Amino acid sequence: MFYHVKELQFNARVSKPDPKFASMLLEQFGGANGELKAALQYFVQAFPAKMPYPDKYDMLMDIATEEFSHLEIVGATIQMLLGPTAGELKDQADQSEIMDLLKGKAAKEEFIHKAMVNPQFFDLNGGGPAYTDSQGNPWTAAYVTANGDLTVDLRSNMAAESRAKIVYEYLLQFTDDPYVKETLRFLMTREIAHFQMFEAALETIKPNFPQGVLQGDPRYSNMYFNMSSGADFRGPWNEGQSPQLGESWQYVDDPIRYVMESDGLQLHKSTGTPRTQEQVEQMNKELGERRSSHIRGSIPKADIQWSNYNSRNREPGR
Ligand code: MN
Ligand code: MN
Repeated sequence: MFYHVKELQFNARVSKPDPKFASMLLEQFGGANGELKAALQYFVQAFPAKMPYPDKYDMLMDIATEEFSHLEIVGATIQMLLGPTAGELKDQADQSEIMDLLKGKAAKEEFIHKAMVNPQFFDLNGGGPAYTDSQGNPWTAAYVTANGDLTVDLRSNMAAESRAKIVYEYLLQFTDDPYVKETLRFLMTREIAHFQMFEAALETIKPNFPQGVLQGDPRYSNMYFNMSSGADFRGPWNEGQSPQLGESWQYVDDPIRYVMESDGLQLHKSTGTPRTQEQVEQMNKELGERRSSHIRGSIPKADIQWSNYNSRNREPGR
């Protein structure tokens, strides 16, 4: 159940209208890394989490609801930045000194378009925010990544929060309005907070790597293919121990030769890893059973109820 509180989560203000910046800020309203995407992503991820992970359901719904509150703040800020409504603005443009210099209707229209960057504000929306990005591309559900595997979703969310954070950081460079800066700084900071919430939640699920159940083939999990010639770099991504599985990276310096001589890796022997095929298969089996029993155990067999009302045992219609 949603209940709307009329006040914003943060006291968003603007010093004066700035339709150009309003247009840029649309990126965080209906853009690929914006607040609508974040809200709907965590919201849809929450459903499959509810029964097996009620604690993560709680967190996902709390953060989704906060993202809707951010969407509201961004929408309100865009509206304040737009200033006068579309019709009034055209009148204002008519009266402005610039208009005196511009001869004819075409020049005036061009001025309005240039000033607004995104003419959709005036042509289509009657002067309010729209579910588009700053270029006018319509919002799409394709921005939302939800997988049903919580370790995958939580990592997607950390990536989403990283992108949202950096978009706010870029936007901050394009406004001098101290009130707008204050709001953007708040919104940016909340993404920093959310990143850590998702990271901490991921840490409570063990094991969380590799994602899912299947452990992968230990012959290939530690190979690095040097797929170019020239100045090649070495680092912890291709030498020493791999961070998650703790295997030694095997650097294949000449992949063409290696692939040819091993008959397309068929003759490749596992090196640098303590994991064997038998151990991996055993782990697959154990994890699969553990995962299924966890999910089975969390789902009631009959009279399934989402909420915790007292009337759990009341028969329907009575
Ligand atoms: Mn947000
Ligand atoms: Mn966030």
